Amino acid sequence: MHRELLEILQNYNTKIIMNLKELLHKNELTKEEIIFLLNLIDKEDQQRLFNRADEVRSFYCGDEVHLRGIIDFSNYCEQNCLYCGLREDNYKLTRYRMMPDEIIETARVISNLGIFTIVLQSGEDYYFDTDLIAYIIYQIKQKANVAITLSLGERGFDEYRAWKFAGADRYLLKHETANPKLYSIYHKKQKLEDRLSHLRFLRTVGYQIGSGNMIGIPMQTVEDIADDILLCKELDLDMAAFGPFIPSPHTPYQNKKPGNVELTLRTMAVARIVLKKVHIPATTALATLDEEGRIKGLNAGANIVMPDLTPSPYREQYLIYPDRKCINDNPLSCKSCLQLQIESIGRKISNSRGDSIKQKDRLTV
Ligand code: SAM
Ligand code: SF4
Repeated sequence: MHRELLEILQNYNTKIIMNLKELLHKNELTKEEIIFLLNLIDKEDQQRLFNRADEVRSFYCGDEVHLRGIIDFSNYCEQNCLYCGLREDNYKLTRYRMMPDEIIETARVISNLGIFTIVLQSGEDYYFDTDLIAYIIYQIKQKANVAITLSLGERGFDEYRAWKFAGADRYLLKHETANPKLYSIYHKKQKLEDRLSHLRFLRTVGYQIGSGNMIGIPMQTVEDIADDILLCKELDLDMAAFGPFIPSPHTPYQNKKPGNVELTLRTMAVARIVLKKVHIPATTALATLDEEGRIKGLNAGANIVMPDLTPSPYREQYLIYPDRKCINDNPLSCKSCLQLQIESIGRKISNSRGDSIKQKDRLTV
Protein backbone atom coordinates (compact mmCIF):
# COMPACT_ATOMS: atom_id res chain seq x y z
CA MET A 1 0.00 0.00 0.00
CA HIS A 2 1.16 3.55 -0.73
CA ARG A 3 3.08 4.89 2.32
CA GLU A 4 1.12 8.16 2.58
CA LEU A 5 -2.20 6.35 2.40
CA LEU A 6 -1.01 3.93 5.08
CA GLU A 7 -0.07 6.86 7.34
CA ILE A 8 -3.44 8.50 6.84
CA LEU A 9 -5.19 5.23 7.71
CA GLN A 10 -3.04 4.69 10.79
CA ASN A 11 -3.72 8.24 12.02
CA TYR A 12 -7.42 7.77 11.38
CA ASN A 13 -7.49 4.51 13.38
CA THR A 14 -5.50 6.06 16.23
CA LYS A 15 -7.95 8.98 16.29
CA ILE A 16 -10.94 6.62 16.58
CA ILE A 17 -9.17 4.57 19.28
CA MET A 18 -8.32 7.77 21.19
CA ASN A 19 -11.91 8.95 20.84
CA LEU A 20 -13.29 5.60 21.91
CA LYS A 21 -11.03 5.55 24.98
CA GLU A 22 -12.14 9.06 25.94
CA LEU A 23 -15.76 8.19 25.30
CA LEU A 24 -15.58 5.08 27.48
CA HIS A 25 -14.19 7.17 30.36
CA LYS A 26 -16.74 10.00 30.15
CA ASN A 27 -18.87 10.37 33.26
CA GLU A 28 -22.12 11.06 31.39
CA LEU A 29 -22.99 9.81 27.91
CA THR A 30 -25.46 11.46 25.51
CA LYS A 31 -28.03 9.41 23.61
CA GLU A 32 -25.92 9.79 20.42
CA GLU A 33 -22.84 8.49 22.22
CA ILE A 34 -24.81 5.53 23.60
CA ILE A 35 -26.03 4.71 20.08
CA PHE A 36 -22.45 4.94 18.78
CA LEU A 37 -21.28 2.43 21.41
CA LEU A 38 -24.23 0.08 20.80
CA ASN A 39 -23.27 0.04 17.12
CA LEU A 40 -19.60 -0.91 17.64
CA ILE A 41 -19.05 -4.03 15.58
CA ASP A 42 -15.26 -4.09 15.20
CA LYS A 43 -14.11 -6.93 17.50
CA GLU A 44 -11.29 -4.94 19.09
CA ASP A 45 -13.52 -1.92 19.76
CA GLN A 46 -16.14 -4.21 21.22
CA GLN A 47 -13.54 -5.80 23.51
CA ARG A 48 -12.49 -2.30 24.68
CA LEU A 49 -16.11 -1.60 25.54
CA PHE A 50 -16.43 -4.89 27.50
CA ASN A 51 -13.13 -4.27 29.31
CA ARG A 52 -14.24 -0.80 30.39
CA ALA A 53 -17.61 -2.17 31.59
CA ASP A 54 -15.76 -4.84 33.55
CA GLU A 55 -13.59 -2.16 35.19
CA VAL A 56 -16.64 -0.08 36.13
CA ARG A 57 -18.39 -3.19 37.50
CA SER A 58 -15.36 -4.09 39.60
CA PHE A 59 -15.05 -0.52 40.95
CA TYR A 60 -18.70 -0.13 41.99
CA CYS A 61 -19.78 -3.72 42.76
CA GLY A 62 -16.57 -5.59 43.55
CA ASP A 63 -15.78 -9.05 42.21
CA GLU A 64 -18.46 -11.08 43.95
CA VAL A 65 -21.32 -12.56 41.97
CA HIS A 66 -24.72 -12.65 43.68
CA LEU A 67 -27.04 -15.58 43.02
CA ARG A 68 -30.81 -15.10 42.95
CA GLY A 69 -32.70 -18.41 43.10
CA ILE A 70 -35.88 -18.26 41.04
CA ILE A 71 -39.02 -20.22 41.91
CA ASP A 72 -41.46 -20.08 38.99
CA PHE A 73 -44.47 -21.06 41.07
CA SER A 74 -47.28 -20.64 38.51
CA ASN A 75 -47.38 -20.45 34.72
CA TYR A 76 -51.02 -19.29 34.61
CA CYS A 77 -51.31 -15.80 33.20
CA GLU A 78 -54.20 -13.46 32.48
CA GLN A 79 -52.12 -11.30 30.14
CA ASN A 80 -51.44 -11.78 26.46
CA CYS A 81 -48.02 -10.21 25.85
CA LEU A 82 -47.31 -10.97 22.18
CA TYR A 83 -43.81 -12.33 22.83
CA CYS A 84 -44.37 -14.68 25.78
CA GLY A 85 -45.07 -18.42 25.82
CA LEU A 86 -47.11 -18.07 29.04
CA ARG A 87 -49.69 -15.75 27.43
CA GLU A 88 -53.28 -16.63 28.24
CA ASP A 89 -54.17 -17.54 24.66
CA ASN A 90 -51.44 -20.20 24.43
CA TYR A 91 -53.75 -23.20 24.83
CA LYS A 92 -50.92 -25.63 23.99
CA LEU A 93 -49.15 -24.94 27.28
CA THR A 94 -49.72 -27.33 30.18
CA ARG A 95 -50.51 -25.08 33.13
CA TYR A 96 -49.46 -25.67 36.75
CA ARG A 97 -49.55 -24.02 40.15
CA MET A 98 -47.25 -25.02 42.99
CA MET A 99 -48.95 -25.33 46.37
CA PRO A 100 -48.01 -22.69 48.99
CA ASP A 101 -46.24 -25.19 51.26
CA GLU A 102 -44.28 -26.54 48.30
CA ILE A 103 -43.13 -23.00 47.45
CA ILE A 104 -42.12 -22.31 51.06
CA GLU A 105 -40.22 -25.61 51.32
CA THR A 106 -38.41 -24.95 48.00
CA ALA A 107 -37.33 -21.55 49.33
CA ARG A 108 -35.95 -23.20 52.47
CA VAL A 109 -33.98 -25.75 50.41
CA ILE A 110 -32.53 -22.96 48.25
CA SER A 111 -31.46 -20.92 51.28
CA ASN A 112 -29.75 -24.04 52.73
CA LEU A 113 -27.62 -24.13 49.57
CA GLY A 114 -26.25 -20.70 50.51
CA ILE A 115 -28.37 -18.68 48.08
CA PHE A 116 -29.71 -15.64 49.91
CA THR A 117 -32.26 -14.20 47.50
CA ILE A 118 -35.45 -15.99 46.50
CA VAL A 119 -37.27 -14.68 43.43
CA LEU A 120 -40.95 -15.61 43.47
CA GLN A 121 -41.99 -15.43 39.82
CA SER A 122 -45.21 -16.24 37.96
CA GLY A 123 -47.58 -15.12 35.25
CA GLU A 124 -50.22 -12.60 36.31
CA ASP A 125 -52.18 -15.20 38.25
CA TYR A 126 -54.88 -13.84 40.55
CA TYR A 127 -55.49 -17.28 42.08
CA PHE A 128 -52.55 -16.17 44.23
CA ASP A 129 -54.40 -13.28 45.83
CA THR A 130 -53.08 -10.63 48.23
CA ASP A 131 -53.39 -12.79 51.34
CA LEU A 132 -51.95 -15.95 49.83
CA ILE A 133 -48.83 -14.19 48.52
CA ALA A 134 -48.47 -12.37 51.88
CA TYR A 135 -48.70 -15.74 53.69
CA ILE A 136 -45.99 -17.26 51.46
CA ILE A 137 -43.69 -14.27 51.95
CA TYR A 138 -44.21 -14.29 55.72
CA GLN A 139 -43.60 -18.05 56.04
CA ILE A 140 -40.44 -17.94 53.94
CA LYS A 141 -39.12 -15.10 56.09
CA GLN A 142 -39.82 -17.14 59.23
CA LYS A 143 -37.98 -20.18 57.93
CA ALA A 144 -35.06 -18.73 55.93
CA ASN A 145 -32.70 -15.81 56.20
CA VAL A 146 -33.22 -14.53 52.66
CA ALA A 147 -34.23 -11.47 50.69
CA ILE A 148 -37.42 -11.90 48.69
CA THR A 149 -37.89 -10.50 45.21
CA LEU A 150 -41.36 -10.56 43.71
CA SER A 151 -41.85 -10.84 39.94
CA LEU A 152 -45.60 -11.23 39.58
CA GLY A 153 -46.35 -8.68 36.86
CA GLU A 154 -48.57 -5.63 37.38
CA ARG A 155 -50.68 -6.04 40.51
CA GLY A 156 -52.71 -3.66 42.70
CA PHE A 157 -51.02 -0.83 44.60
CA ASP A 158 -52.60 -2.08 47.84
CA GLU A 159 -51.18 -5.52 47.16
CA TYR A 160 -47.65 -4.13 46.74
CA ARG A 161 -48.07 -2.39 50.09
CA ALA A 162 -49.37 -5.52 51.84
CA TRP A 163 -46.53 -7.68 50.49
CA LYS A 164 -43.92 -5.15 51.56
CA PHE A 165 -45.44 -5.26 55.02
CA ALA A 166 -45.31 -9.09 54.96
CA GLY A 167 -41.56 -8.92 54.34
CA ALA A 168 -40.89 -8.64 50.58
CA ASP A 169 -37.71 -6.70 49.76
CA ARG A 170 -37.59 -6.19 46.01
CA TYR A 171 -39.86 -6.10 42.96
CA LEU A 172 -38.84 -6.95 39.41
CA LEU A 173 -41.06 -5.51 36.69
CA LYS A 174 -39.44 -5.01 33.32
CA HIS A 175 -40.55 -1.99 31.29
CA GLU A 176 -39.75 -4.24 28.23
CA THR A 177 -39.40 -1.23 25.88
CA ALA A 178 -39.11 2.52 26.44
CA ASN A 179 -40.91 3.14 23.14
CA PRO A 180 -44.56 3.87 24.09
CA LYS A 181 -45.90 2.85 20.64
CA LEU A 182 -44.11 -0.51 20.70
CA TYR A 183 -45.16 -1.04 24.32
CA SER A 184 -48.83 -0.67 23.32
CA ILE A 185 -48.39 -3.07 20.40
CA TYR A 186 -46.76 -5.80 22.52
CA HIS A 187 -49.26 -5.39 25.33
CA LYS A 188 -52.58 -5.04 23.55
CA LYS A 189 -52.96 -1.26 23.90
CA GLN A 190 -51.78 -1.04 27.50
CA LYS A 191 -49.71 2.04 28.30
CA LEU A 192 -46.01 2.28 29.11
CA GLU A 193 -46.80 5.19 31.43
CA ASP A 194 -48.95 2.88 33.59
CA ARG A 195 -46.12 0.39 33.96
CA LEU A 196 -43.77 3.21 34.93
CA SER A 197 -46.26 4.44 37.53
CA HIS A 198 -46.18 0.95 39.10
CA LEU A 199 -42.39 1.04 39.25
CA ARG A 200 -42.42 4.51 40.82
CA PHE A 201 -45.02 3.44 43.38
CA LEU A 202 -43.01 0.34 44.29
CA ARG A 203 -40.03 2.58 44.99
CA THR A 204 -42.06 4.92 47.19
CA VAL A 205 -43.30 2.06 49.39
CA GLY A 206 -39.73 0.91 49.97
CA TYR A 207 -39.01 -1.86 47.47
CA GLN A 208 -35.64 -2.13 45.76
CA ILE A 209 -36.76 -2.10 42.14
CA GLY A 210 -35.57 -3.93 39.04
CA SER A 211 -36.60 -3.35 35.45
CA GLY A 212 -35.17 -3.71 31.94
CA ASN A 213 -35.92 -4.68 28.37
CA MET A 214 -35.60 -7.42 25.78
CA ILE A 215 -33.05 -7.06 22.99
CA GLY A 216 -34.15 -7.84 19.44
CA ILE A 217 -37.87 -7.82 20.05
CA PRO A 218 -39.74 -7.20 16.73
CA MET A 219 -39.59 -3.62 15.37
CA GLN A 220 -37.07 -2.43 17.99
CA THR A 221 -34.28 -0.09 16.80
CA VAL A 222 -30.88 0.65 18.36
CA GLU A 223 -32.28 4.07 19.21
CA ASP A 224 -35.00 2.35 21.27
CA ILE A 225 -32.33 0.42 23.16
CA ALA A 226 -30.50 3.68 23.93
CA ASP A 227 -33.81 5.03 25.28
CA ASP A 228 -34.18 1.86 27.40
CA ILE A 229 -30.81 2.50 29.03
CA LEU A 230 -31.66 6.17 29.64
CA LEU A 231 -35.03 5.20 31.10
CA CYS A 232 -33.29 2.80 33.51
CA LYS A 233 -31.15 5.76 34.58
CA GLU A 234 -34.16 8.02 35.06
CA LEU A 235 -35.92 5.33 37.15
CA ASP A 236 -32.80 5.10 39.35
CA LEU A 237 -33.07 1.30 39.33
CA ASP A 238 -31.42 -1.05 41.79
CA MET A 239 -31.29 -3.80 39.15
CA ALA A 240 -31.37 -3.52 35.35
CA ALA A 241 -31.84 -6.63 33.22
CA PHE A 242 -31.21 -6.84 29.47
CA GLY A 243 -31.89 -10.23 27.91
CA PRO A 244 -32.29 -11.29 24.27
CA PHE A 245 -35.75 -11.95 22.88
CA ILE A 246 -36.25 -15.64 21.97
CA PRO A 247 -39.21 -16.53 19.73
CA SER A 248 -41.67 -18.80 21.46
CA PRO A 249 -43.96 -21.34 19.70
CA HIS A 250 -47.71 -20.68 19.71
CA THR A 251 -47.24 -16.92 20.09
CA PRO A 252 -47.75 -14.19 17.46
CA TYR A 253 -43.95 -13.73 17.31
CA GLN A 254 -43.08 -17.42 16.91
CA ASN A 255 -41.46 -16.90 13.48
CA LYS A 256 -39.46 -13.80 14.35
CA LYS A 257 -35.67 -13.73 14.65
CA PRO A 258 -34.06 -14.10 18.09
CA GLY A 259 -32.14 -11.18 19.59
CA ASN A 260 -28.46 -10.80 18.74
CA VAL A 261 -26.07 -12.03 21.45
CA GLU A 262 -23.36 -9.44 20.73
CA LEU A 263 -25.83 -6.55 20.75
CA THR A 264 -27.16 -7.86 24.08
CA LEU A 265 -23.63 -7.90 25.50
CA ARG A 266 -22.93 -4.40 24.18
CA THR A 267 -26.19 -3.20 25.77
CA MET A 268 -25.19 -4.69 29.13
CA ALA A 269 -21.74 -3.11 28.87
CA VAL A 270 -23.04 0.35 27.91
CA ALA A 271 -25.68 0.10 30.66
CA ARG A 272 -22.95 -0.68 33.21
CA ILE A 273 -20.96 2.38 32.09
CA VAL A 274 -24.03 4.65 32.17
CA LEU A 275 -25.79 3.29 35.29
CA LYS A 276 -22.70 2.38 37.36
CA LYS A 277 -24.07 1.44 40.83
CA VAL A 278 -26.64 -1.09 39.71
CA HIS A 279 -27.01 -4.86 39.71
CA ILE A 280 -26.97 -6.34 36.20
CA PRO A 281 -27.74 -10.04 35.62
CA ALA A 282 -26.21 -12.33 33.01
CA THR A 283 -29.61 -13.67 32.00
CA THR A 284 -30.77 -17.24 31.34
CA ALA A 285 -32.00 -16.08 27.91
CA LEU A 286 -28.44 -15.05 27.04
CA ALA A 287 -27.11 -18.43 28.26
CA THR A 288 -29.83 -20.15 26.19
CA LEU A 289 -28.70 -18.49 22.95
CA ASP A 290 -24.97 -18.90 23.62
CA GLU A 291 -23.28 -21.73 25.57
CA GLU A 292 -20.81 -19.19 26.96
CA GLY A 293 -23.46 -16.51 27.44
CA ARG A 294 -23.21 -16.39 31.23
CA ILE A 295 -19.45 -15.96 31.28
CA LYS A 296 -19.55 -13.45 28.44
CA GLY A 297 -22.19 -11.49 30.36
CA LEU A 298 -20.18 -11.55 33.59
CA ASN A 299 -17.21 -10.22 31.60
CA ALA A 300 -19.29 -7.43 30.05
CA GLY A 301 -20.57 -5.71 33.18
CA ALA A 302 -22.85 -8.26 34.89
CA ASN A 303 -22.57 -9.17 38.59
CA ILE A 304 -25.71 -11.31 39.08
CA VAL A 305 -26.81 -14.78 38.01
CA MET A 306 -30.41 -15.93 38.44
CA PRO A 307 -30.58 -19.75 38.32
CA ASP A 308 -34.01 -21.25 37.90
CA LEU A 309 -34.46 -23.55 40.91
CA THR A 310 -38.11 -24.43 40.35
CA PRO A 311 -38.56 -28.15 41.11
CA SER A 312 -39.40 -30.66 38.40
CA PRO A 313 -41.79 -31.27 36.70
CA TYR A 314 -42.86 -27.64 36.91
CA ARG A 315 -39.62 -26.17 35.61
CA GLU A 316 -39.99 -27.88 32.23
CA GLN A 317 -43.47 -26.34 31.91
CA TYR A 318 -42.45 -22.74 32.58
CA LEU A 319 -42.00 -22.24 28.86
CA ILE A 320 -41.58 -18.50 28.36
CA TYR A 321 -39.44 -19.54 25.37
CA PRO A 322 -38.12 -22.96 24.25
CA ASP A 323 -34.87 -24.79 25.18
CA ARG A 324 -34.26 -22.78 28.34
CA LYS A 325 -30.74 -23.34 29.65
CA CYS A 326 -30.25 -25.75 32.59
CA ILE A 327 -33.85 -26.84 33.06
CA ASN A 328 -32.79 -30.39 33.93
CA ASP A 329 -30.32 -29.56 36.70
CA ASN A 330 -31.09 -30.14 40.36
CA PRO A 331 -30.34 -27.22 42.73
CA LEU A 332 -27.15 -28.69 44.15
CA SER A 333 -25.53 -29.52 40.82
CA CYS A 334 -26.73 -26.16 39.48
CA LYS A 335 -24.90 -24.29 42.23
CA SER A 336 -21.69 -26.36 41.81
CA CYS A 337 -21.76 -25.78 38.06
CA LEU A 338 -22.20 -22.02 38.51
CA GLN A 339 -19.44 -21.97 41.11
CA LEU A 340 -17.03 -23.60 38.64
CA GLN A 341 -17.96 -21.15 35.89
CA ILE A 342 -17.67 -18.12 38.16
CA GLU A 343 -14.35 -19.19 39.69
CA SER A 344 -12.94 -19.91 36.22
CA ILE A 345 -12.96 -16.15 35.58
CA GLY A 346 -11.41 -15.27 38.94
CA ARG A 347 -14.66 -14.22 40.63
CA LYS A 348 -16.51 -15.80 43.52
CA ILE A 349 -20.06 -16.37 44.69
CA SER A 350 -21.14 -13.90 47.36
CA ASN A 351 -22.31 -15.02 50.79
CA SER A 352 -24.48 -11.96 51.28
CA ARG A 353 -28.01 -11.06 50.15
CA GLY A 354 -26.63 -8.62 47.59
CA ASP A 355 -28.98 -5.77 48.43
CA SER A 356 -29.04 -2.58 46.36
CA ILE A 357 -25.66 -0.93 45.95
CA LYS A 358 -27.48 2.39 46.24
CA GLN A 359 -29.07 1.59 49.59
CA LYS A 360 -26.39 3.25 51.71
CA ASP A 361 -26.54 6.43 49.59
CA ARG A 362 -30.32 6.50 49.99
CA LEU A 363 -30.14 6.09 53.76
CA THR A 364 -27.68 8.96 54.11
CA VAL A 365 -29.61 11.38 51.87
N1 SAM B 1 -45.39 -12.16 34.54
C1 SAM B 1 -44.33 -11.42 35.10
C2 SAM B 1 -43.98 -10.24 34.25
O1 SAM B 1 -44.38 -10.18 33.09
O2 SAM B 1 -43.27 -9.37 34.76
C3 SAM B 1 -43.09 -12.25 35.38
C4 SAM B 1 -42.84 -13.41 34.46
S1 SAM B 1 -42.38 -12.94 32.80
C5 SAM B 1 -42.32 -14.47 32.00
C6 SAM B 1 -40.67 -12.47 33.05
C7 SAM B 1 -39.99 -11.85 31.85
O3 SAM B 1 -39.83 -12.80 30.82
C8 SAM B 1 -40.67 -10.69 31.16
O4 SAM B 1 -40.47 -9.49 31.84
C9 SAM B 1 -40.04 -10.70 29.77
O5 SAM B 1 -39.03 -9.72 29.67
C10 SAM B 1 -39.42 -12.09 29.68
N2 SAM B 1 -39.87 -12.79 28.45
C11 SAM B 1 -41.12 -13.11 28.12
N3 SAM B 1 -41.15 -13.69 26.91
C12 SAM B 1 -39.87 -13.73 26.46
C13 SAM B 1 -39.26 -14.20 25.27
N4 SAM B 1 -39.97 -14.74 24.29
N5 SAM B 1 -37.91 -14.07 25.15
C14 SAM B 1 -37.19 -13.53 26.15
N6 SAM B 1 -37.71 -13.07 27.30
C15 SAM B 1 -39.05 -13.16 27.46
FE1 SF4 C 1 -47.81 -13.08 31.43
FE2 SF4 C 1 -45.47 -11.99 32.19
FE3 SF4 C 1 -45.64 -13.57 30.01
FE4 SF4 C 1 -46.74 -11.16 29.92
S1 SF4 C 1 -44.54 -11.61 30.17
S2 SF4 C 1 -47.70 -13.07 29.20
S3 SF4 C 1 -47.47 -10.94 32.03
S4 SF4 C 1 -45.97 -14.14 32.10
